[in-house]
Formats: sequence, structure tokens, C-alpha cells
Amino acid sequence: MQGRNILRDYILKSIKKQSVNKMKSFPQILNRDLIFLNKNTFLLILSIFLSAEILLAQQAETTFAWPEGKQIAISLSFDDARASQVDAGTALLDQYGVKGTFYVVPNSVKQRLEGWKKAVASGHEIGNHSFNHPCTGNFPWSRQKAIENYTLKKMRNELMLANKDIKELLGVEAEVFAYPCGQTYIGRGENTKSYVPVVSKLFLSGRGWLDEGPNAPQFCDLAQLTGMEMDGKDFEQILPLIENAKKSGAWLVLAGHEMGTSGNQTTRLSMLKKLIEYAQNPANGIWIAPVGTVAKYIKGQKG
Ligand SMILES: [Zn+2]
Repeated sequence: MQGRNILRDYILKSIKKQSVNKMKSFPQILNRDLIFLNKNTFLLILSIFLSAEILLAQQAETTFAWPEGKQIAISLSFDDARASQVDAGTALLDQYGVKGTFYVVPNSVKQRLEGWKKAVASGHEIGNHSFNHPCTGNFPWSRQKAIENYTLKKMRNELMLANKDIKELLGVEAEVFAYPCGQTYIGRGENTKSYVPVVSKLFLSGRGWLDEGPNAPQFCDLAQLTGMEMDGKDFEQILPLIENAKKSGAWLVLAGHEMGTSGNQTTRLSMLKKLIEYAQNPANGIWIAPVGTVAKYIKGQKG
């Protein structure tokens, strides 16, 4: 930017100098004037060229071409295959023709198998959320399956086992994954290892949890997508997240658990109703689609 300003100042000074000379005697300075003119024309063209190039580079950094001229993408994702998701949640999504992403644990799917089959038939995306939901042993409920005691091999085997069960139960290949508790490591201390590379090899994408911002489509790592909480919130609390995502044309992946009227770790159906109606208003420029659909689109755009 500084370079451009210097260039602009130089051009202005040259033009001013040239005008003063013109007032003296046109024929006397004709030759010099032509040199000035050529030099100025050259500098002017160079300046325009540089400005255009900088502008294009900035646009490539900040904008991403969403389909049909949409300004942002939103995905609605739900974890753990909680019963309320198929008991109450999918019916609301179906009412509006919106497809969600459900990251399931196979054993929980078995509790509502018919409901989950119906969800698949309605076109909802089924993702992998591991075989037995291992998290840090700091959670008492996870002490016996603490990721601190895992190896990469054990993690990989269990992710594949979950894929196999999902296929057997629901007939679908899980293409997307959500890290249980949003934790992406195994082991402890010097022996801690990330299992992002394992997820990256097995899946199209991996989503985190309780993240602070949306995904920049032109930059994001599909194996480390951010997931922002939508549990326990009214639409008025979700709207600022959408408006913030709109500033940079980002992809907002919302994540929730139970689907109901209120309660612990519950995405409110009243919020979802308002959110979907807002997202489906063409004036708001929102593409609402499952995680896998958006991830594939981004992959395609990146080439
Ligand atoms: Zn979970």
C-alpha cells in the first residue's frame, strides 16, 4: 500500500510540474513535454495495473463463490444420536425440507433404529461420531475409555468399526466425522498425538465442538472444521453468529445435542424454526445444507 501511495504522489508531482512548464513556453518544452507525457502515461498505466492486481488478490482472499450467489453457508449438525433427534427434531427439519447432519454412535442408533432409518430416507446425512465416544478421562464417565490411554491404531480401528456398524444398521457410508467432545488428540504429555491425520484419511471432514468462529471456505482444513454451539440458545443469540459469518462469506457449522423445547444440552425447536425461516428467506443469501454437501462443494471449488 505504501508503495502505491509513493507512486501516486510521484505521478501527481510530475503532472503538476508539467503544467507549470506548459505555461512558460509550449514550443520550447515540447520535446521534454512529450518525454514527460510518455513517462506519465506509463506510470499511470502501471499504477492502474498494480491497483487492479492488488484488488483482485484481496478479493480472492476474502470472497468465496457460494452457489447461486449466496453469501454464506450454514450447516445444522447434531451429535450422539440422541433419541430426541428422531423423536422430535427430524420432523421439524422435514417440515421445511432442510437436511441436517447427524453424527451418530452406532449403539445409540440401535435405541431408535426405525426412527433413524426414516431420517435416512428423508435425506438427512449420517456421520460418524466414533464407536464408543471416547473423551478425556477428566470426565468421570469417560475414565474407562479415556483418550489419554488410546493409541492411534486403537482409534483408527474403532472409527472403522463405527463405519461398519453404521453401514449395517442404516445402509449408508459415513463420509463425515465429528470429534467426540471436540478433542482431536490421544495420549498424554510428550506422547500426545493428534488423530486429525487419521480422520483426514478416513473421512471427507472432521468437525470440532465449542469453537469460537466459523470456517473460512478458501482456507479451512476440512479435517478440522469448527463447530459452534447452538444448544440452549434462542434465535436472537444465533443471529449475531450468522451476521458475523456474513462479513467474510464464511461457513457456519452449528452443533447441538438434544432437540426439544428446553433443557440441558438441548437445541430449541423454537430457535430452529426461526433460524430455518430466516435462512430460507432468499433476501438473506444463505445456503443451508448438510456438512458433507458443503465440504464437497468447497473441495470442488479448490480443485
Ligand atoms: Zn458427542
